[in-house]
Amino acid sequence: MENCVFCKIINNEIPSEKLYEDEDFIVIKDINPVAPIHLLVIYKKHVPVIHELSEDDQRRFWKVFNIIKKLSEELNFKEYRIVQNNGKQAGQEIPHIHFHIIAGRKLGKIG
Ligand code: AMP
Ligand code: ZN
Repeated sequence: MENCVFCKIINNEIPSEKLYEDEDFIVIKDINPVAPIHLLVIYKKHVPVIHELSEDDQRRFWKVFNIIKKLSEELNFKEYRIVQNNGKQAGQEIPHIHFHIIAGRKLGKIG
């Protein structure tokens, strides 16, 4: 997908520090962290929002939980928030599915 920042990162057109990579997902640090730990788990296929995932896509998403578990052990955080925005009203800036993993400080209520 042209002009998608995450597609460019996945294709190594923009340099990034990848903390994890497999055939379906990469994990990078958010460029504008809101907490001491702010990771992005990014689906490698350009799908803008959750409701556009096919059943084949969906079957791959069980991995997200394994990836989070692995990173929480490696980076030593046990308490964290997962955020996944769909659409501008929900606060989504980049229309390419990703999960924010936010940790390392006391977080306020969701709102
Ligand atoms: P969202 O608002 O849910 O679409 O989240 C997009 C996130 O991507 C924001 O938290 C940005 O700070 C982050 N972001 C934008 N560009 C980059 C980049 N080049 N590398 C890492 N994170 C980025
Ligand atoms: Zn993309």
